[in-house]
Amino acid sequence: MKIVVSACLLGEPCRYDGKSQPCGKVQELAKRHTLIPICPECAGGLPTPRIPCEKQSDGRVLAKDGTDRTDAYALGAELSLLRARANGCTLAILKSRSPSCGVGQIYDGSFTRTLTDGDGVTAELFLKNGITVYTEENFEEAGL
Ligand code: SF4
Repeated sequence: MKIVVSACLLGEPCRYDGKSQPCGKVQELAKRHTLIPICPECAGGLPTPRIPCEKQSDGRVLAKDGTDRTDAYALGAELSLLRARANGCTLAILKSRSPSCGVGQIYDGSFTRTLTDGDGVTAELFLKNGITVYTEENFEEAGL
């Protein structure tokens, strides 16, 4: 099957700090499935490296310097959803705790590495549109 995957998990150096977050277990899925990489923050027009952002309790996404990046995150989420749909994907494996890709838990907006319940902007849009979303920490539950 075709599975949408956060590009940083596949070794793309697209994180805010210019690094990747490769996950061997996710990369191994390429032996049996077609992996469709997405990086919503890059798709939304943000540069790499970039000032880290966190989603606030009111839904806005702010950079650590206070810049409002809500629009870029929303655009990146919409474009990522389009890419998922164009490829017929119904399942995604996204990077845990990211303000775009996190599922179930994200940083709370205080830039103190404090976690709170919630989904990243792209994960939330995927879930609203019927895409099943896992992270690199729990995708094995899907039995792929
Ligand atoms: Fe990885 Fe998602 Fe952040 Fe892009 S937006 S670097 S894919 S966690």
